[in-house]
Amino acid sequence: MTTTRFAPSPTGHIHIGNLRTALMNYMIARKADGTFILRIDDTDPERSKEEYVDGIKRDLEWLGLTWDRIERQSLRLDRYAEAADRLREMGRFYEAFETPTELDLKRKKQLNMGKPPVYDRAALALSDAEKDALRAERGDGVWRFKLDQERIEWNDGILGDISIDAASVSDPVLIRGDGQVLYTLASVVDDIEMGVTDVVRGSDHVTNTATQIQMIEALGGTPPRFAHHSLLTGPAGEALSKRCLLYTSPSPRDCGPDLVCRLLL
Ligand code: GLU
Repeated sequence: MTTTRFAPSPTGHIHIGNLRTALMNYMIARKADGTFILRIDDTDPERSKEEYVDGIKRDLEWLGLTWDRIERQSLRLDRYAEAADRLREMGRFYEAFETPTELDLKRKKQLNMGKPPVYDRAALALSDAEKDALRAERGDGVWRFKLDQERIEWNDGILGDISIDAASVSDPVLIRGDGQVLYTLASVVDDIEMGVTDVVRGSDHVTNTATQIQMIEALGGTPPRFAHHSLLTGPAGEALSKRCLLYTSPSPRDCGPDLVCRLLL
């Protein structure tokens, strides 16, 4: 049974690049008589807005990209907490307390020495007493997933064979100091539990995919087939903006990047 999903974060209006992703996932599901899920990635309570959720649904319906199921990550926080506990029990999750400034300094030092700016795992060496002291001083730390430092390989549906050395990637932060679950963990839990078989998304997610494959395997799931498409850009090579309105624009001038306007208006 083929299951795909389109997973926008409702932090702005979707643009033509997002719609291209939606279309590919929609077509894969429809061709196989499978299920197309609209998943709203709204774990960020500050940036997610209901008006954008409504706008995303309206835009997809306008294009005829109808979904079979809708899911919202904000309603599944207990599932993510459970997965986090399992990762902790397995020794694949650790708390780290560096401030953004400290991390920035570490990165600069590594770059100066010609090394890749990868998190040095200093937090793994902290004793319980040191962690308690840091927690008392700085509040809760972030939680990082401990990557197995081996090559991560998959056959990408668009890019072909991919091989990424996990040692060249920082252990991803999955939970912020304020307890907010980040997309990388939520997405993995959802893809496993919703039985997602195929994921097409932008090539800006290739490194995420590498770390997510290890997370899916750690949680006992089977990685979906991944395919990463190129990203659409504006005329000057800039990323498309979610601030651009589609047909809902009162006038074409409200539209951000020219490319979107040219394609849609
Ligand atoms: N919310 C993520 C994004 O909009 C989803 C990426 C994915 O498809 O996994 O980039």
